[in-house]
Amino acid sequence: MRVVDIRERTVDISRYADPSIPPGGLTTSIVALTTDVVRNGRSVVGFGFSSVGRFGQGGLIRERFAPRLIAAGAVDPLEAWAAMMKGEKPGGHGERCVAVGTIDMALWDAAAKIADLPLHAFLRRRLGDRGSPSAVPVYASGGYRYPEDDLSRLKDELRRFRDSGYRRAKIKIGAAPLARDLARVAAAAEIFPAPQSLAVDAMNSYQSNAAIAAAEALRPCGLMWLEDVCDPLDFDAQSAVTAVYDGPVAAGEALFSAAEAKLLDRHGGLRRDRDILLFDPVHCYGLPGYLQIVETMEGRGWRRSAFWPHGGHLFGLHVASALGLGGTEVNPSSFPPFGGLIDGAVLSEGNATPSDLPGVGFEGIGALDRLFRGL
Ligand code: MG
Repeated sequence: MRVVDIRERTVDISRYADPSIPPGGLTTSIVALTTDVVRNGRSVVGFGFSSVGRFGQGGLIRERFAPRLIAAGAVDPLEAWAAMMKGEKPGGHGERCVAVGTIDMALWDAAAKIADLPLHAFLRRRLGDRGSPSAVPVYASGGYRYPEDDLSRLKDELRRFRDSGYRRAKIKIGAAPLARDLARVAAAAEIFPAPQSLAVDAMNSYQSNAAIAAAEALRPCGLMWLEDVCDPLDFDAQSAVTAVYDGPVAAGEALFSAAEAKLLDRHGGLRRDRDILLFDPVHCYGLPGYLQIVETMEGRGWRRSAFWPHGGHLFGLHVASALGLGGTEVNPSSFPPFGGLIDGAVLSEGNATPSDLPGVGFEGIGALDRLFRGL
């Protein structure tokens, strides 16, 4: 296929489902990628967005990556990375990795639509079937601190997760004094009481001493994992945490290349028998970059089941299913309309199955379909 047009728009997103809570200024880029392939009298269009957490990438997409891809002629999604990165130097990823990953998502959506396959099936065909079941273990992610009535609103949110069929959940800590966060964890554990059913995410907020103090305080809680406990490149602090915390820790969400993954493995004190790798396929230059990370870490003795990609959206679900990863994040209520599963999706024993819609299946989320079509 040839890419003939890429349109981008930067849109506001909120960590909260409640529109009355100030969204906080976070954005993401949405793209519509038009191909020269025609089906049923219409050009096939792929859609993508910049996952969540790292802002829109409009300038980079419009000025560098979209023009190169359009100029490249016929492209395959696995080879488009090279076309987009023409002339770019290694290292210093900044957020160009997110811009490239945004277009990559739309490329895969288009390619799978052209093949008339859901993305997970298309990826299995392209990458080799891992023999993995299509149902993916998932957890409901959210639990951001509410500006008012935090504990009662947190519990309401988690009850909705539980009542929708989720058996695992993740909440945020790190934005308040530790005692207040421990009260959040205790409140959340009332709704998700089983050991290994509740994770906490410190959003890379702690300095070294605070990270160690939080790890020691959380050690008795039997958490599913302790995530993003310090600066993503502070491997000293990360390894100091694993020295005092014997439960699983999760890291890698804000690292973007195989070289950085190798550094995390070499210096972060992670344990291959229990810890979790969060690399976001969209933020790592898209699927080609993510596959390099998976291959690198497998070559260093990591299990594929250690990978639980960050993002919380449909693309991550297809990738986790096709690659046979441990599971994936789902944002049932945060970052609407980008998070969560397709409208009306039903979980089975805490697992989610990607839809049979061609491509990523964004069309299965009504509000998201309308947003993309507006492009
Ligand atoms: Mg995180």
